[in-house]
Amino acid sequence: NTKVLFKSIPEGAANLANFEVVSEPFNIQTAAAALQPNSVLIKVTWLSVDPYMRGRMRKPEVASYSAAFTLGQPFMGHGVGIVVKSTSEKFAEGDVVLGILPWGNYVSVPEAAITRKINTADAPDLPHETYLGLLGMPSFTAYAGLVVLGKPKAGETLFVSAAAGAVGQVVGQIGKRFGLRVVGSCGTDEKVDHLVNRLGFDAAFNYNKHPIREKLAELCPNGIDIYFENVGGETLEAVLTLMNVHGRIPVCGMISQYDGAGYGVKNLFSVISKRITLQGFLVSDFYADHHDAFLKWMFEHGLDGTFFYEQTVANGIENVPAAFIGMMDGKNIGKQLIKL
Ligand code: NDP
Repeated sequence: NTKVLFKSIPEGAANLANFEVVSEPFNIQTAAAALQPNSVLIKVTWLSVDPYMRGRMRKPEVASYSAAFTLGQPFMGHGVGIVVKSTSEKFAEGDVVLGILPWGNYVSVPEAAITRKINTADAPDLPHETYLGLLGMPSFTAYAGLVVLGKPKAGETLFVSAAAGAVGQVVGQIGKRFGLRVVGSCGTDEKVDHLVNRLGFDAAFNYNKHPIREKLAELCPNGIDIYFENVGGETLEAVLTLMNVHGRIPVCGMISQYDGAGYGVKNLFSVISKRITLQGFLVSDFYADHHDAFLKWMFEHGLDGTFFYEQTVANGIENVPAAFIGMMDGKNIGKQLIKL
């Protein structure tokens, strides 16, 4: 059984030295016999790596919205797997479950770590990874930020940054279905081509190649009504000058700042002069009231054959660290997943 442990706290960008991949002899009968009450032993099939994990790679005394990972212990994140042994009344052997799982091939977790069973009667029988991807947390984030907070109206202009990533690709495509003009930014020409020619964005640009404000002014001739914020820094500063009166900025993420850049955004006075709603949010706050509506929307539109869901897949638990580092560095197109 192979696991990935949190070895050291990164300074700046995370690197391979911050992770330790350890293999130990594993006997499934022994693991099953040692299972605690109200727990499940899971054979993990898919794992997700997500930007918020960078924030968990910190000292425990630094407060944030999610707990710090524990040095020497496995990383944890959204994953899917098959229950191979259960001492829980809620889950049976053979159930396919979604939860917050340690990074390992076989993991024993308390039943509270399981979010839900998938591929049950009330959910279509889909490939396991769909529940980390199209129907997963990042897509729900896109829906919550754009539909609930962004309040889109047909004809408006939406700009989304990190547009070719897990959240961004869904934001843009939901935006098109709400009748918006959709513009995206991303870090490579290949991603620009993907956004415009596959996902149906009206326009996109590579922020590594073009001055952001000039390019945005050119591609958003009627200004920006909704900015779905994923990156922060210079992009936010440029957007503020181009927002329309009563514009909305759902602040989902600021990935350009996660390694400690500390960019001082200017132009914040626009928030007043243009009466902008700038609203930070965490997707976790939306499950109770909006997750059912999200699933309904996705079953109707996301699975209709016209919605394009891109994934970048790495293989094997030993490649989770490189997949995470690569995702933080823009190597992924669409959702970065790991198949075990
Ligand atoms: P992505 O799949 O978009 O992967 C991250 C992407 O960020 C990379 O592919 C890269 O693409 C881009 N990026 C990396 N560094 C920079 C930089 N310095 N400047 C601009 N872009 C950069 O990840 P997700 O879709 O999972 O997450 C997108 C955002 O949403 C993140 O900020 C994340 O923290 C946030 N988020 C927030 C949630 C919430 O509850 N508030 C929940 C889920 C996600 P590129 O090639 O374009 O540079």
